[in-house]
Parts: sequence; C-alpha cells; structure tokens
Amino acid sequence: MNNRSIIREQIRETGLKMLGSGLVVGTWGNISARVPGEDLIAITPSGMNYDVLQPEDIVLVALNGEVKEGERKPSIELPLHLAIYCARKDIQAVVHTHSAYATAMAAARKPIPGAVEDLVQIVGGDVRVCEYALPGTAQLGANAVKALEGRNAVLLPNHGMVGAGTNLDEALKICQVVEKSAKITILAQAVGGVVELSQEDTAAMRDFYLHKYGQR
Ligand code: 13P
Ligand code: ZN
Repeated sequence: MNNRSIIREQIRETGLKMLGSGLVVGTWGNISARVPGEDLIAITPSGMNYDVLQPEDIVLVALNGEVKEGERKPSIELPLHLAIYCARKDIQAVVHTHSAYATAMAAARKPIPGAVEDLVQIVGGDVRVCEYALPGTAQLGANAVKALEGRNAVLLPNHGMVGAGTNLDEALKICQVVEKSAKITILAQAVGGVVELSQEDTAAMRDFYLHKYGQR
C-alpha cells in the first residue's frame, strides 16, 4: 500500500472509532490528515455515514483547496482543516466533533479550564472558544487558528470542537480528552467549580507529555 492508501484507510478507521466513542451522531464531524511526503491532505467526504465509508470515499486535496483525487465532494469544513495545516507545521491530523459536553461549553461560549492532568498534557492548557463564524467558512478557519495558538484543541461557538495532533490517533484522543474535561467542568459546578492548575504546573505537565511520557 502507498502512503495515500494507508492514510485513507486510517481515516476510515478513525471515523468508525469516532462514531463508536459517541463524539458525533449521524454524518456530522469530519476528519483529515496530511499525506506523508506530499503537499496533500486526505479528508472525509461531506455528509456520508462513517459506517459505510470506503477508503476511496476519502478525498485527496492540495493545500490550496484543489481536489486531486476522489469522486466525492469533500467535507464542507475543508477551509477549517486547510487553515490549520497552513498555520501549524506541527499538525499532521485534525478531527472535528460535535460531542455533547464540549458543545455545551461552546454554546455557553465558556473555555474549558486547564484543571485536569490529561487535558493540560495533551492540549497544552485551557481550551479556548474561538470567535463565531458560520460552518464551512474560511472565517471559521481563521478564527479557529487564532484561538489554537499554543494549543491542540479549540471550541467552535454554538457548534463543536476541533482536535489537532501529530497523528490521527492523537487527534481523536484529544477530542476524547476534551469531551471528558468538558463533562468534568460541568459536573464540578455542582460542588463549587474546578480549581485551575497554575501556569507553572501546566507547563511542567505539557513538557512531560511531549518529551518523557510513555514508552520511548
Ligand atoms: P461535513 O459532513 O460536510 O463534513 O459537515 C459536517 C460538519 O460537522 C460541519 O461542521
Ligand atoms: Zn461541524
């Protein structure tokens, strides 16, 4: 299998995992990744069920937005994904979800505070809410990039969230951790609200995640 086929298959598998995690319902949300060695990204097609997607349904698109391979119409959020890849050379994969707790915070336009270990490790701090723009617009991409500075996740107001990582597994994991953290934030309101971690401890945990955590 070549890199294009491998990435298409990985996106198909990530779609099934995302659906199984309850982070999306129906055809909402979308997934993309850079194709290694090429100035291309692979992205899910618009409005198709994740459980019927075939690798060839994943569309290959140049960084200027031109479709290079695939018969399907790409996700309407292509401008959002492209804006992130153009602004962030460290990002290899992007997952966009509509999960309940993260979207509750996004609809309230409240950031998710950096108050739990896994969140600050994997996202780099709190999860900001970007400025509002309509779905599918270049403006939404520009707003998301701004709020993603120094972070790996962002809340899209009245819409959902985006996780951006070094590979598809990490991008999906970011969305799962953000969703769990949003749930914790809302639950903690019942007992007085969360206590945010200090900048210093957040930085130490982020450094640990990036350079020491896990099997190396
Ligand atoms: P697509 O099905 O076109 O990817 O759109 C879903 C979505 O979440 C739009 O924000
Ligand atoms: Zn969406």
